[in-house]
Amino acid sequence: MVRVAVTHHDLRRLAQGLERPASSFVDWLAPDAVDMTNEPGSFVELREGRRLMVLAQSGGACHLLDPNQRCTAYAWRPLDCQLYPLDLSRDEAGAVVGVARLDPQGCGDEAGQIADVNELGANDELRWRELGEYQAHVARWNRLAGHRRRFRRQPGDAGEFFSFLGLDEETREADFARALATVHASTELGYPK
Ligand code: SF4
Repeated sequence: MVRVAVTHHDLRRLAQGLERPASSFVDWLAPDAVDMTNEPGSFVELREGRRLMVLAQSGGACHLLDPNQRCTAYAWRPLDCQLYPLDLSRDEAGAVVGVARLDPQGCGDEAGQIADVNELGANDELRWRELGEYQAHVARWNRLAGHRRRFRRQPGDAGEFFSFLGLDEETREADFARALATVHASTELGYPK
């Protein structure tokens, strides 16, 4: 079954677009639940063990898929979803050396509508750049987890990892800003203060 690994950039866009906490979009997979041979740097050392952050599922499908097989987060879907079902391979210098078509399953007709090859290349470059930034954060977190273990302290849990990434704080700040804007709008309309 295909699982979509996500970065903090993907979660930030989803959280802002759907106005939900970033942590509400994810499941955490153990290493034996997924093949990440090519991207070991995405595994996060949590209190529970090494885990990979992926989009949450419900009933065996992405929880953002509606009963008509349409993505309810289309405008904010992760970059992997934007590229799906195409998969570019690049050489060590970053040049595109091949395009594969993955086995399409699960996300209806809207998945992977790429307008042209330039858009495909740009999205793929952005995907790798964002993945690199995410993995740099993960590497720092994992080093911190190693230090904690040396001092007989447990690594942080998923909630602390989100704080480390600054994600759910942003959602709380956005909620606060929306609440303030609502109050402001209601007072301008002459509602009781
Ligand atoms: S395209 Fe939408 S429904 Fe499909 S996996 Fe991505 S976020 Fe989920």
